[in-house]
Amino acid sequence: MESVLRMVKQHGLLEMDRLGLETFRNEGAQRIEGMDAVIYRRSIRAIEDTLFFIGVAGGEKSLFLAGEQPIVGGFTGTSGRIGGVSLLRAPFSPANGSLLQKAFPFTAPVSLRNRKTTIGCGDRLGLATPGQIRAVRSYEASPVLAQQSIRELTLTGRDYPGVVSDAAFLVFQEGYELGYGADGDHLKSMADIDAAVAAGMPMITLDLTDVMSPAPASWSEGKVDDEFRALDSGTRDRVLERYADRSFELAGARVRITMVEAKRCALMYLRALGYAREVDRHLRAKRGDRYDLEISIDETTAPTLPAHHLFFVSELQRRGVAVSSLAPRFVGEFQKGIDYIGDAAEFERQLAIHCAIANAFGDYKISVHSGSDKFSVYPSIGAHTGMRLHLKTAGTSWLQAVRVIARANPGLFRSMVSVALASLTEASKLYAVSLDPAAIPDSDHLADAELEGLLQNRSSRQLLHITFGGLLGNSGIRGKLLRTLAENEEAHYALVEENIAKHLRLLGVPTRR
Ligand code: ZN
Repeated sequence: MESVLRMVKQHGLLEMDRLGLETFRNEGAQRIEGMDAVIYRRSIRAIEDTLFFIGVAGGEKSLFLAGEQPIVGGFTGTSGRIGGVSLLRAPFSPANGSLLQKAFPFTAPVSLRNRKTTIGCGDRLGLATPGQIRAVRSYEASPVLAQQSIRELTLTGRDYPGVVSDAAFLVFQEGYELGYGADGDHLKSMADIDAAVAAGMPMITLDLTDVMSPAPASWSEGKVDDEFRALDSGTRDRVLERYADRSFELAGARVRITMVEAKRCALMYLRALGYAREVDRHLRAKRGDRYDLEISIDETTAPTLPAHHLFFVSELQRRGVAVSSLAPRFVGEFQKGIDYIGDAAEFERQLAIHCAIANAFGDYKISVHSGSDKFSVYPSIGAHTGMRLHLKTAGTSWLQAVRVIARANPGLFRSMVSVALASLTEASKLYAVSLDPAAIPDSDHLADAELEGLLQNRSSRQLLHITFGGLLGNSGIRGKLLRTLAENEEAHYALVEENIAKHLRLLGVPTRR
């Protein structure tokens, strides 16, 4: 506490007026280092006579409040009065995070429904956000900084209030005022949706896997006819009249739906459409227009046919569902952390049709899930979507944290590889990958400088990508990992920034001027 206060006094921060603070905040290196303490320059702000900033003292990062008067405002933590100055050290708790969002509204997540290009930057550790902000800052894109699925929450031992407040503190640390999103990713139940909404997350990615019926996709025409006949007559008439044997002329594409395909779509999607409508009404009741509903139909076994996409969104529109983005399952493979696998020309041809449909039925964003590291297809994704796009990444930033370890702490990295191999069986139940453990070189036989190569090798890259739960759950690894990242904080941010910037650049997102 005293070392932080010394720095505050040394730089005369308590005497500066608003303009003085603004100038100070924007000039010079982000980290101001003192003896045994750090202050993050871009976080320094004042409300009336109270100074707010993020700092590190005694190895721990916190929000600090300082002023000549006693500190008010409800923040909780350790307080003291030294040399006529009151100082409060407030830990990064959800309660303090909520107060920060009220005091500085730019730190609260917002709806990005009207932003053209958005990028999901999942931050599994709650430590990568500053690097992600630094990348996005230079581009005409808005970041979704807080983004976790229930699966990730379980594997990392976090919860939605913590995920949102960590993002808020780090947005404050970087002084990023352009607005960011928060996504309750791949949610299925109303209870999980409510948990995300209660934590202040404006974006919900509704995963319809469990309410879709995949079976009719492979039914014979006779079976489809029989089952369709069991639907009520109003639905049957409407589906046949609107879709059966019809061609839809869209700008840049033509989509034809045959009689049997129209019936098949009804059997596959009607229940999911009803649920999507229920969720949309629920979100509107809770948040007015300030929510982003993403609909995900990507976790299915077969690619989303253009005819099915058209049927689905046309029916969403008829139900008045406000879709902000939709994630189809694309042709080919979008595996975690590695480049696109499949026929890139066919992917491009189908993507163009998906984009034409999105354009014609509400101009929602096409969302690309498992979107990280698909560098070979980014140029075509950028071109066909015209940047009307949500690109969802998550594990790629985690892998940059792992890269920091490979460079800075080779011994720890070797232990991580062996723990990762030991947790592969468990992780493979949750994540579909095609890695071959036999193709992974033995890290004990690699020189320190060669270790980083394991993040290029496809099998070891996927291994380290999907075993984060096993690694973070290992008490011998977790503490050392967090300490190494803290000691190499700027290097960590730089690697995350470089990687996210590469994604945006190859997509062709325009730079901000
Ligand atoms: Zn997905």
